[in-house]
Amino acid sequence: MTLSETYLDYRNLPDFFYSDVQALREPDYQIWYSNSELAGDLNLPKSWIGSEAGLKVLSGQETLSGDKPLAMAYAAHQFGHWAGLLGDGRASLVGDIADISGIRKELHLKGSGQTPYSRRGDGKATLGSTLREYIVSESMHALGVPTTRALSIVTTGETIIRNGAEPAAILCRSAKSHIRVGTFQLAAASQDSAHLKALADFTIDRLFPSAPTSGPERYLHLLREAIEGQVNLVSKWMGYGFIHGVMNTDNALISGETIDYGPCAFMDAFHPGKVFSSIDRNGRYAWNRQPEIANWNMLQLARSLLPLFSEFEESSAQMAEQELEQFSPKFVKAFNGVMARKLGLATGALKNPEVLETTFQAMMTSKVDFTLFFRRLTQIAEGHRPEEFISLFETRSAGKGWLEYWKGLIEKSEISTEDRIAMMRSANPIYIARNHRVEEAITAANNGDMEVFKRLLGAVTAPFTERDDLAEFENPPNPDEIVNQTFCGT
Ligand code: AMP
Ligand code: MG
Repeated sequence: MTLSETYLDYRNLPDFFYSDVQALREPDYQIWYSNSELAGDLNLPKSWIGSEAGLKVLSGQETLSGDKPLAMAYAAHQFGHWAGLLGDGRASLVGDIADISGIRKELHLKGSGQTPYSRRGDGKATLGSTLREYIVSESMHALGVPTTRALSIVTTGETIIRNGAEPAAILCRSAKSHIRVGTFQLAAASQDSAHLKALADFTIDRLFPSAPTSGPERYLHLLREAIEGQVNLVSKWMGYGFIHGVMNTDNALISGETIDYGPCAFMDAFHPGKVFSSIDRNGRYAWNRQPEIANWNMLQLARSLLPLFSEFEESSAQMAEQELEQFSPKFVKAFNGVMARKLGLATGALKNPEVLETTFQAMMTSKVDFTLFFRRLTQIAEGHRPEEFISLFETRSAGKGWLEYWKGLIEKSEISTEDRIAMMRSANPIYIARNHRVEEAITAANNGDMEVFKRLLGAVTAPFTERDDLAEFENPPNPDEIVNQTFCGT
């Protein structure tokens, strides 16, 4: 089946930006899980996912439009070092469709086999890694964080070797656009101004159509919007204790959506310098360094765009700097907004940096669980007794001390109790995709049991609604359940 109204917009870019992909044929493609709600949002007919035509697209044999699948080309800085051309080594673009709001969404596969950019990689993904991405990205979506979304997992019938033999699978994810900072870096590195301009115009038309139609303002608008997107994104990540883990420039989308759920995790016990990724030895992508790194990624974008701002290097650089200078103040404002809602305060109350400093210090000293801290604080606002909150701290006096401090802030606040409760309930989730639960779901899935995955998914996709039958997902890991590292590229 070819859906007649779809076409692969990406093919309108110069072919410098992609390569055709020769589809693999694996022994046994089967839909392992699919997201009928997202399929509906994407305007895909109800029966499509389960159909033969659906399976052909979701396994990378065909595209929605009948074009050949393609792999995107991009370059990157990885862990701060220039890596040159990378490109989709195990991914392919198989669709581009208007969703029910009329917004174009790309369908992109991960684990669909080798491409011209695979280098020594096998182009494949484990079922475990696709399952991790499925759960965490859908969790992020339910929390209101911009993200790629998971449409399906298809198993291929193959076993691949990673940490032992594991089933292989293909994830299909949707995003407004998969164009990255690294795509612009590739265009800039080609030193062909036609490539750069084509990419910028394509991106603006797709993502920021309200930009001026010509002149430097058009391209400054692109930079500004990308900065806004990163500010919004990273402030939300941090408000949920989320650590992306691999903020390389190929994993920074211009659309401001989260991409690449490799070594990511929501932290349990709070520490601002928390790192999960097994390969992040210097803590470059720690929780509290994410704004600085997003800012650095935006600097790389700005550098790539310089020739489009002005023909004079100096004035280009000045224009870029003016935009980049906005990052920090914009971030502080956004993050204060996020944290104020979590604490039940007006944003203005966080203008005094002491409030967050005192709070994070108290949380860190007692290694308080990030999510439970705010959840139980919400319950106090609702009128519960403070005991459960206080018991999160190492000592009663530490818990009581911070709580008195908070009560002092609340007394000065003009927000009504009713508004405070509503605000805190919608900012402080009960269920997040805790790492030990994700690992548990992966282990069960590898043993042929899907139920653990389904229950966890049920909890994290309605994260603000308490359910007695899901109580186990609220709690942090016991000491023997703690997962300290996550791995990427699997
Ligand atoms: P990531 O760490 O997932 O952002 O990937 C970084 C680069 O490595 C990208 O170019 C990927 O396409 C590539 N890559 C990761 N895993 C594989 C694999 N199994 N086969 C081929 N390429 C891969
Ligand atoms: Mg990536």
